[in-house]
Amino acid sequence: MYRKTLSELAAELQKGQISSLELTRLFLDRIEASNTTLNAFISVDREGAEQAAKVADARLTQGQTGPLLGLPLAHKDIFCTEGVKTSCGSRMLDNFISPYDASVVARFKTAGAVMLGKTNMDEFAMGSSNETSWYGAVKNPWDNTCVPGGSSGGSAAAVSARLTPVATGTDTGGSIRQPAALCGITGLKPTYGRVSRYGMIAFASSLDQAGPMAQTAEDCARLLNVMAGFDERDSTSIDNTPEDFTAALEQSLAGMTIGLPVEYFQEGIHANVAQSLDTAIDELGKLGVQFKEISLPNQHLAVPVYYVVAPAECSSNLSRYDGVRFGYRCENPIDLEDMYKRSRGEGFGNEVKRRIMIGTYVLSAGYYDAYYLKAQQIRHLISDDFKKAFDQVDLIMGPTTPEPAFKLGAKSKDPVSMYLNDIYTISANLAGLPGISVPCGFADGLPIGLQMIAPAFMESRLLNIAHKYQQVTDWHKRMPADYE
Ligand code: GLN
Repeated sequence: MYRKTLSELAAELQKGQISSLELTRLFLDRIEASNTTLNAFISVDREGAEQAAKVADARLTQGQTGPLLGLPLAHKDIFCTEGVKTSCGSRMLDNFISPYDASVVARFKTAGAVMLGKTNMDEFAMGSSNETSWYGAVKNPWDNTCVPGGSSGGSAAAVSARLTPVATGTDTGGSIRQPAALCGITGLKPTYGRVSRYGMIAFASSLDQAGPMAQTAEDCARLLNVMAGFDERDSTSIDNTPEDFTAALEQSLAGMTIGLPVEYFQEGIHANVAQSLDTAIDELGKLGVQFKEISLPNQHLAVPVYYVVAPAECSSNLSRYDGVRFGYRCENPIDLEDMYKRSRGEGFGNEVKRRIMIGTYVLSAGYYDAYYLKAQQIRHLISDDFKKAFDQVDLIMGPTTPEPAFKLGAKSKDPVSMYLNDIYTISANLAGLPGISVPCGFADGLPIGLQMIAPAFMESRLLNIAHKYQQVTDWHKRMPADYE
């Protein structure tokens, strides 16, 4: 049962083959059995989940339906959940019980979904390996000595080991796509503004976007149907007509043209990753897709630009954690300044502090023009590169990451090599575009992901091609042997 996709589980529930309570307990038990090893969950809400499942069962018996009625899921611990700890992977919020639900969480509740718990993540979503979490690193289910990716590593590991059928994540520079690739699952970052950021703890507000993580593209489409939509409480939320993201899944790919940016296939890419991409290109070619070489000339500037813009926004967003209103407060402060300094000094981890310092520096008088303004200008150029490319092609494709999962500890002392893991994912965030990572092979037993990027609001095109690809391949069906 735990191997089934969300769509299959929905069918089982509708037929009455299993109850929501049984299903919920099945996954809660799987979490209990494996979480000591994987560390994928920060909080497990057995009581709340069983209660929600009972309510769902009652509704199902009455013949009620709902897009996700009775189906279990997990939320990244960045989403505020009423009455349940919302830590954002930080000591700063270890004592924070949110008084309200994030819009994403509320939407899932309305759809009838059952929340199992909150997944581990890099502190304030800053990281690519999940090692910056105050709660300790998450392990990759395919190899416990490797990282699961980050920052949504807990969600990716949990879906990969089938501790939950699906999960939510957030992606500021790759945090849905990169861990999805490293754990062998499917993850979608929607267009900026598609999903409400209300109640989603802010890292870099002009880049942050929530999205679905699941075994299949079809499941991602079902989740996106629930997540997406206008929210007046988020000023950057887009008021588009609601769309059914499952509608175009079966569309033929004949006549579609995919651009392959030369910059995505240069040195630094692992041989098996390149090889898996080649095989995927062949598979898609058989489905009628045409390929064209393109160029994104400013691609090499994406990582440097991101590491000015994201820290700048984070330094501003994280100034609210001052020990006064909520979150961590140091013991026995001697005066107000001592309280600010020690609460922040003790509450934040090293990576978060590094980013606050960089961000404060690039925003300071005298450096603002040289760094922040310059980065914003280059951000426009990166966005223009995509616009020009989409005049010629329908989608862009490349690897999600340069290499498969690396060893725990391998990059944690070297921030720059860690930052380079997001070299292919960051530009989609800078341009606000939707992107998806889909499993496409293995290297020494570790999963590999391929990434596709679409023009703004073309998520259904990404889901369509990913779904068609998954009908002719089985990479997404494999699961780590230790969790069978
Ligand atoms: N790894 C990137 C960072 O450390 C992206 C994180 C994210 O998308 N939240 O900032």
